[in-house]
Amino acid sequence: MNGDSWGQVKEGLKAYVGASNYTSWIEPLAISSVEGGVALFEVPSPFFGNYVSQNFGDQIIYHLNKSGALVERLRFLTTPANRPVKTPATSKPAVETAAPAAKSDNSGLVSGGQLDARFTFDSFVVGKPNELAHAAARRVAEGGAVTFNPLFMYGGVGLGKTHLMHAIANELRLRQPELNVLYLSAEQFMYRFITALRERKMIDFKQLFRSVDVLMVDDVQFIAGKDSTQEEFFHTFNALVDAGKQIIISADRAPGEIKDLEDRIKSRLQCGLVVDLHPTDYELRLGILQSKVLQFAATYPEVQIQGGVLEFLAHRISTNVRVLEGALTRLYAFASLVGREVSLELAQDCLSDILRASDRKITVEEIQRKVSDHYNIRLSDMIGPKRVRNFARPRQVAMWLCKQMTNRSLPEIGRRFGGRDHTTVMHGVRKIEELKTTDSQIADDLEMLRRALEA
Ligand code: ADP
Ligand code: MG
Repeated sequence: MNGDSWGQVKEGLKAYVGASNYTSWIEPLAISSVEGGVALFEVPSPFFGNYVSQNFGDQIIYHLNKSGALVERLRFLTTPANRPVKTPATSKPAVETAAPAAKSDNSGLVSGGQLDARFTFDSFVVGKPNELAHAAARRVAEGGAVTFNPLFMYGGVGLGKTHLMHAIANELRLRQPELNVLYLSAEQFMYRFITALRERKMIDFKQLFRSVDVLMVDDVQFIAGKDSTQEEFFHTFNALVDAGKQIIISADRAPGEIKDLEDRIKSRLQCGLVVDLHPTDYELRLGILQSKVLQFAATYPEVQIQGGVLEFLAHRISTNVRVLEGALTRLYAFASLVGREVSLELAQDCLSDILRASDRKITVEEIQRKVSDHYNIRLSDMIGPKRVRNFARPRQVAMWLCKQMTNRSLPEIGRRFGGRDHTTVMHGVRKIEELKTTDSQIADDLEMLRRALEA
């Protein structure tokens, strides 16, 4: 592989990873060699290699193979010249991402390189938004009789789907090393399927997939619209279910909402237990930050975090956990380099781009629309003059949310609710404040709506 063809592979990757990931992580990657199925890259730091391997490893392998290179694993070498001042003592100089072994040797298909050892149940922080998914994952990881098949976990980007799947696999490997556990992304499934077709090795392919005890397919939405891959997936799925083998699937949305996925597959996916990972709430984000701080303390014992910084981050970065982690990582690296404590000012300064991106302004209109949808009333009735309870209560809920979540003044809010007086808004806000403590249904509604709006 020469520089030119790597350039083309990078172009292909751009469409997958998005412009900003591309600039930060892919663009700087220089390939040094491809030998014996291993592509070697030079990276400025172990962290960089780790990050790329974890977040884009599969896609890099996929695109390299697509371009004709035969690559099963990536290796990242830290170039000493580029080494940062402080290198974590615990990190190894090279990280590897392995594509699943091509042939079954019947000794457990999960190769060590492919699972992230850090993604365990211990390192997973449980909160309200993910407790059901976590409990279901735990149950499956116990490896007892198959009670729900498949386990289908869905949720937005960076909410912990992959983490939970690896945690299940890591746990099963400890508890029942004799089981054949295969974890792969839907993209890898497709890649292997296409390769098997091309090389006329469909029998091997079928045998391999039919011989696993636990099959995990991550990001299954990827196969939507890819007809022959779907077909094969369907047969694999059925064969395993019929044989009483456990299947675990993740996707970015509910089965019924994946466009261009065959109906028979949708209904199959819904047969077991479907659990969703909700957008994080403040408490969960804070919990995750606190647990990461404990982990970072081993690597950066000299870095101190001032009070209030974690709360600030949990409050301001509500997009996803990956971004939250990235922010903390950057803070540690920066504080360590400049030898300063992490203060609020330093955080604001060092993370201004992330904070700006997360600084999404929620509008009165958005709130009105969400609340009308939630209570199943028309937007015109929410804003209109009718005072019947069916409209008045949702209207007050919306007013309360506007007061909480926007910077609008009471008169401004009143104007947007059909030109109502600010005293009406104030009355509505107070009413909801009061109901919040006495009426648990309202309290739940508020919490749910706030979360949905923040997501
Ligand atoms: P997804 O697959 O849903 O896009 P990931 O599982 O890759 O998300 O999670 C993104 C990052 O956030 C990972 O580094 C993961 O460890 C971390 N993460 C997500 N949820 C949690 C959690 N509840 N506790 C600890 N870490 C989490
Ligand atoms: Mg994932």
